[in-house]
Amino acid sequence: MKTILDEAKSYLDWIVGIRRELHRFPELGYQEFKTSELIRKTLDELHIPYRHPIGETGVLATLGTGRGPCVGLRADMDALPITECADVPFRSAVNGTMHACGHDCHIAMLLGAAKILKRRESEIRGTVKLLFQPAEEGGAGGLRMCVEGALEAPNVDRIFGLHVWPTLPSGQIGSRAGTLLASAGSLKIVVTGKGGHAAMPQMCFDPVATSAKIISELQTIVSRELDPLDPGVVSITTIHGGQAFNVIPPSVTMTGTIRSLTVRGMEFLEERIRTIASHVAAANRCEAQIEFLDAYPPTVNDGHCWDVAQVLGRELLGESNVQQLLPVMGGEDFSYYTNRIPGCFVALGMRNESQGAVYGVHHPMFKADEEMLPLGSALHVGFALKSLDELS
Ligand SMILES: [Zn+2]
Ligand SMILES: [Zn+2]
Repeated sequence: MKTILDEAKSYLDWIVGIRRELHRFPELGYQEFKTSELIRKTLDELHIPYRHPIGETGVLATLGTGRGPCVGLRADMDALPITECADVPFRSAVNGTMHACGHDCHIAMLLGAAKILKRRESEIRGTVKLLFQPAEEGGAGGLRMCVEGALEAPNVDRIFGLHVWPTLPSGQIGSRAGTLLASAGSLKIVVTGKGGHAAMPQMCFDPVATSAKIISELQTIVSRELDPLDPGVVSITTIHGGQAFNVIPPSVTMTGTIRSLTVRGMEFLEERIRTIASHVAAANRCEAQIEFLDAYPPTVNDGHCWDVAQVLGRELLGESNVQQLLPVMGGEDFSYYTNRIPGCFVALGMRNESQGAVYGVHHPMFKADEEMLPLGSALHVGFALKSLDELS
């Protein structure tokens, strides 16, 4: 596997070049048209066949025999609605959009793996599928890929995904057996009252004051109702209502997110939010409409797949650079794959003070340690070849 890492390192400029081109032209979920085009152009140059479209902008490339056993490797393609503030020469040219979650790195690493796998195609004991999926950031692109057959013909036996991880030092990888990432959902609460003159509150049912009470009451779900050892998140993140200082508006709209490490936990949070919001609203002569949208399932790693990744990680990086991570309350639509087949989502360390790569993902200053991209490519290749050796 060391020789694969050396080969990957020799492609550093090629991989970084792709990453920077993607970084300059970030695209939001299901709009990854240029991104998808660049991936297909690169696959064409490498003489790797693919299926497109899948999941609107997605690309599904295939290497090897075309028969089972089969391992899937996944990269997500979408960017975030953030204006980039990082001082890099290849800064986003699209105002208000940024690859702040490192998905540009994920694509470049997987294309690096494609290049290596193509050269070693005769060593592939089965099939490797490369899943370039759209819309991870809220659009459930992973689900679309599954529904449109990415895991079939041949059936994918295992799947691996890598994510850049700015809290882990460069040169390390980490993950865990079992649940790594939370189930993540969004909620919307519309509080409707009766608007009117702000100087005559007795003539109104005030949705602003009622919304404030609902927000306060929701805080006790996590602090008073959940087992302290069973993590959960309830965050109201937006609140909109009213347009004038002297008018009580007829309604207020709030949105937010809920997180839990289990599906049961999510059901509990939803039920309690419904009850609390509707009853607090009723007690204040208002009404609350509560809606829950787009919950990603928890990302649950298969223990054996993590073992495969750990063996590979130790081989490439040494024992001390493979970390057991605690679960994180972030969500991932990689969960749609691990819900269906065994898989492992692996964190690739990206924290490097000397390069200013110290900001978290989703931060406008987020920077990747590009020296680590070949390592990501080598890991992808290793996940696939090691798994196929076991499965064949
Ligand atoms: Zn993200
Ligand atoms: Zn991400």
